Amino acid sequence: MRTIHSDQITQAIKKLAQEANFDLPQDVKNTIKEAKKNETSPAGKNVLDQLEKNAQIAKTEQRPICQDTGMAVVFAELGQNIVIEGQTIEGAINEGIRQGYAEGFLRKSVVKDPLNRKNTQDNTPAIVYIKQIPGNKLTLKLAPKGGGAENMSRLKMLKPAQGIKGIKEFVKETVELAGANPCPPIIVGLGIGGNFEKSALLAKKALFKNLDKKHSDPFYANLEEDLKNEINKLGIGPQGFGGTQTCLRVLIESFPCHIASLPVAINLQCHAARHKEIII
Ligand code: SF4
Repeated sequence: MRTIHSDQITQAIKKLAQEANFDLPQDVKNTIKEAKKNETSPAGKNVLDQLEKNAQIAKTEQRPICQDTGMAVVFAELGQNIVIEGQTIEGAINEGIRQGYAEGFLRKSVVKDPLNRKNTQDNTPAIVYIKQIPGNKLTLKLAPKGGGAENMSRLKMLKPAQGIKGIKEFVKETVELAGANPCPPIIVGLGIGGNFEKSALLAKKALFKNLDKKHSDPFYANLEEDLKNEINKLGIGPQGFGGTQTCLRVLIESFPCHIASLPVAINLQCHAARHKEIII
């Protein structure tokens, strides 16, 4: 067995929280660059240009890419041959968020109770998912998820007969209803299958994928491309100023489901698609 002290997890999360907020991942930068080449509207092109400059300034000056530094979502893949000493893994992650957000002067965006709305003052708790995997490594993936795009996300239990047509209609309707609210150009995380809650988790997990890589299954790779092209015909454009580049990528995660169901969850992500990972 391999032993990891919880302090090591805390330090890793602290670093990831700051890096994620200051440094837009290269795959997102590549996709914005590509969108700029394809955008036909001058206002849209100008927005994409500003987004590139903003990301550059954030990295150079170590400042947040966006004022909404998000609620931290962490996916942890824990090797089954690891023993964690000290705090629990969730406790260690939350301590890392606490320290990272305080020392990085990142906005505290979490309220303790959804109705009483008192700020927790340290951006905890993070939303943590832990999965046991073979081996003796711990992978931590962190995304600060902003409220604007999250608020426009939706879930629907379709009838199996509605199939691909139903999914496409639901995605287009969701993006159209969202308009400029999720700060386009957006990334669409699409969870298909599982059950009610699993589909939402699939949609979130999809947003952690590398934008430079095609889906490994050609059927889903084609569906992702089709959906992106159809969304881009809606004309919403960067920041809603009109244009051809409303969507940077559609990312799909699927899972087996019940014979009577077709759960579909759409988790929208803004252009500030911040995520970082580390392997301990
Ligand atoms: S949706 Fe994204 S870019 Fe817009 S305010 Fe929220 S975090 Fe910032």
